[in-house]
Amino acid sequence: MSTAEETDIIIVGGGIAGAGAAFEISRSAKVVLLERESHCGYHTTGRSAASFTENYGNGVIRRIVLASRAFLTEPPAGFSDYPLLSKRGMITVARSDQLDLLHQELEAARALVPSIVAMTPAEAIARVPVLRADYLAGAYIEPHSMDIDVNGLHQGYLRGARARGARILTDAGVKAIDRQGGQWRVETPVGTLLAPRLVNAAGAWGDEIAVMAGVRPIGLLPKRRTAFNIPAPAGVDIADWPLVNDVGAEFYFKPDAGQLLVSPADATPSVPMDAYAEDIDVAIGAERLGQATTIEVQRVSRSWAGLRTFVADGSPVVGPDDEVPEFIWLVGQGGYGIKTSPALSRVCASLICGGGLPDDVTRQGVALSDLTPQRLRGAGLQKASAS
Ligand SMILES: Cc1cc2nc3c(=O)[nH]c(=O)nc-3n(C[C@H](O)[C@H](O)[C@H](O)COP(=O)(O)OP(=O)(O)OC[C@H]3O[C@@H](n4cnc5c(N)ncnc54)[C@H](O)[C@@H]3O)c2cc1C
Repeated sequence: MSTAEETDIIIVGGGIAGAGAAFEISRSAKVVLLERESHCGYHTTGRSAASFTENYGNGVIRRIVLASRAFLTEPPAGFSDYPLLSKRGMITVARSDQLDLLHQELEAARALVPSIVAMTPAEAIARVPVLRADYLAGAYIEPHSMDIDVNGLHQGYLRGARARGARILTDAGVKAIDRQGGQWRVETPVGTLLAPRLVNAAGAWGDEIAVMAGVRPIGLLPKRRTAFNIPAPAGVDIADWPLVNDVGAEFYFKPDAGQLLVSPADATPSVPMDAYAEDIDVAIGAERLGQATTIEVQRVSRSWAGLRTFVADGSPVVGPDDEVPEFIWLVGQGGYGIKTSPALSRVCASLICGGGLPDDVTRQGVALSDLTPQRLRGAGLQKASAS
C-alpha cells in the first residue's frame, strides 16, 4: 500500500474475536482486519482447550454460550467441511471437602442447563477408570458438553469474511492511531488505513490499542493459563472419556488427539505478551492429576500457555466506547472466547449497524448493560446481572 487505503471498518486483531467480527460485519460493510503476527490465531485463540460447555463462567457468559450453540451446531452452508462440535461430555468432580461447593454449583448449573445431573463416584469412575475412589466424593455430568473444532471455526470466519470482500492483512501490527476529519488513521508496517470506525479485538493488548487511539482504557486483566499434553495411560482407550473438571477450578483434563490435555487451571496476572508455560505450573498440574487419578506423569510431550483476558466483573466488553463511540470494544472474553464468538460477533455487528442486541441473545436474558464498556467506568462499575 503506497497511499492510505479507505475502508468502512478497521478491525484490530485476527484471533477468534476479530475473525468472527469480520465475518459478521462484512455482510454490510467494507472491512479490513489487521493482525500483527504472520498468521491469525497465534496468540490465545491457538492455545485453548477447545471446549464447549454451557456450565462455566458467570451467568452472562453462560447465556451468551447458549445463544452461540445454534451457529456451532448448524453453521451456514459452506462454512466448514467438518462439524464444528463433537461429542465429549464433561464431568465435574469433588473431594469430600468440596461437596458443599459441588451441591451449590449443581443447583446453579441445572437452572440454565437442566440436562446436567448428579453422578455417584462409582458412575464417574466407570466413565473415567483412572479416577481414584479414595479421592472422589461426588460428581455431576453435563452430557451435552462438546469439543469445538477451533481451527475450523476460526478459518470458517476468515474464509467467509474474505468471500464477502473483507481484507485480512497479516504482519500488520498497528503502530499508531490518530483521528482526523472524522476518520481513524491507522499506521502499520504494510501501510496506512483510513476508516470512520475501528473495532478493538486485540485480546490482551486491548487497553494498549485504546491508549494508542486516545481512548480511556477499561482495566483489562490478562491472566496466564497453562496446559500440557501427556501420553495416554498404556493400554487404555481414552477416546470417549469426557472432560474431567475439578469443581474448585484446581485442574482439568481431557482427551486431545490421542493424548491427554491437562491444565492446572492457573490464572496468573500477566502483562500482554507471548505467554509460555512455566515449569512450576506444569508441575502443579501433574501433581494435582496424580492426586485425583492413578496417572503418574512421566513425560510431558508439549506444554503451552495463553492469556485469558478479563475485566472486573468477568463478562465480555462489546460495543461503542461511551466517550468515543467510533471506537468499538470487543474484548474481555476471558476463558470463553471461542464458544461465545458466534453470539458476540453478531452482537458487535448489530451494535455497529445502530441496532440493539440480536433478539435471540435478548431472549437468553442478556442485556446491553451486561456488555457495554460504560459499566466499567469509575464508580459506575456494576455487578454482572447474573452470576
Ligand atoms: C489454556 C486456555 C484454555 C482455553 N480454553 C477455552 C475453551 O475451552 N473454550 C473457550 O471458549 N475458550 C477457551 N479459552 C479462551 C479463548 O482462547 C480466548 O477467550 C480467545 O481465544 C480470545 O480471543 P481473542 O481474539 O480475543 O484474542 P487473541 O486470540 O489473543 O487475538 C488477539 C489478536 O490481536 C493481535 N494484536 C494485538 N495487538 C495488535 C496490534 N497492535 N496490531 C495488530 N494486531 C494486534 C494479536 O497478535 C492477536 O492475534 C482458553 C484460553 C486458554 C489460554
